Amino acid sequence: MRGALVFVIFLRLCLHSLFADDYPGATVTREVYLMGTSCRITAQAPSRQAALAATEAALRELEETEARLSTWRQDSELARVNAAPLHLPIPLSPRLCGELQEAFSWARRSGGAFDPTVGWLVEAYDLRGKGRLPSPAEMAVARSRTGYRHLSLSGCSLTKKAPVVLEEGGFGKGAALAAALAAAAPLAAALQVDLGGQLAWSPGELVVGLRHPQETERVVAVWRLPAGSVATSGNGERGLWVDGKRLSHILDPRTGKPAEDFGAVSVWAPDPLAADCLSTALFVLGPEAGLRWLRRIPGVQAVFFRKAGDRFGVLATASARKHLELLDPDFFWMEERRQKAAAGGTKPCEGGSKP
Ligand code: ADP
Ligand code: MG
Repeated sequence: MRGALVFVIFLRLCLHSLFADDYPGATVTREVYLMGTSCRITAQAPSRQAALAATEAALRELEETEARLSTWRQDSELARVNAAPLHLPIPLSPRLCGELQEAFSWARRSGGAFDPTVGWLVEAYDLRGKGRLPSPAEMAVARSRTGYRHLSLSGCSLTKKAPVVLEEGGFGKGAALAAALAAAAPLAAALQVDLGGQLAWSPGELVVGLRHPQETERVVAVWRLPAGSVATSGNGERGLWVDGKRLSHILDPRTGKPAEDFGAVSVWAPDPLAADCLSTALFVLGPEAGLRWLRRIPGVQAVFFRKAGDRFGVLATASARKHLELLDPDFFWMEERRQKAAAGGTKPCEGGSKP
């Protein structure tokens, strides 16, 4: 245990390795509240002015993404798309167009496990409020209005074939981080942004601490990763309680039901938007089907923590396994046999028509 503690301290120092202590320039950190969550931007640059400019550029992109995607407000571009009539082409801004193209592509590739058209289901379960269980009739309506196949995106013109409601919850943070990194990383020697627990950084390696799925103060593993982004999906901080039972805030759009709560999944991808969509998709798929699916998606790493009594079994892609250290005795590697079985099965999804 003491060894683990020393290791944590050692790694805590490494967590900051993106920002070298002996760097001759300046380091600037900004903390703001954005997209309903806290955000921390850190930039290192040759001068204080340059580091400030990089954090400003990141902040501007985060704010603009919120103004474009937030459906908590009526004046965002996405809210206007949701309010637009059916069967008429809706012209999209180049930014929203790119974001929806990527989100729909993950919806298609995951066979609908990730699907940004979950607006009616989120409403039916009151996931933005106290949470509730919908009646069968409400559920039938919500399900008939869910599915990326009800939308067609031709170039940057979107047509709705059913009154679906797009919801940014599963991809908005990733989109914001992607925009922030693209604008600010070229202005800084090093940049790191933490938006509500999803991290994005460039350039260089970072050692990321993974937290206990329920006790989120507890760092249970560390993961050495190249530049990119890590997103986590789980119910640690967000789960709602209805009739004494926990209601997952991640839904399976294919069934309309809350996704089975196995624990948590963290995903690394070079692109923050991909990492965000993937973590939600993988939570819905669960460890076995998720690992099988990932065999067909190169360049992505993932780590699953699966509840096993009071402890957690860890399953990971081969790439993640090489760079992950478990620090907590309550977390153990699932047997190789099981991992291999998970990796060797049939394909879980993919298919469907292009939206
Ligand atoms: P976090 O918001 O903590 O990053 P996720 O990225 O997993 O968590 O996103 C969960 C949110 O995405 C939910 O709160 C909801 O708004 C929306 N959502 C729920 N289920 C899905 C799904 N299967 N596909 C896309 N979005 C979803
Ligand atoms: Mg997310």
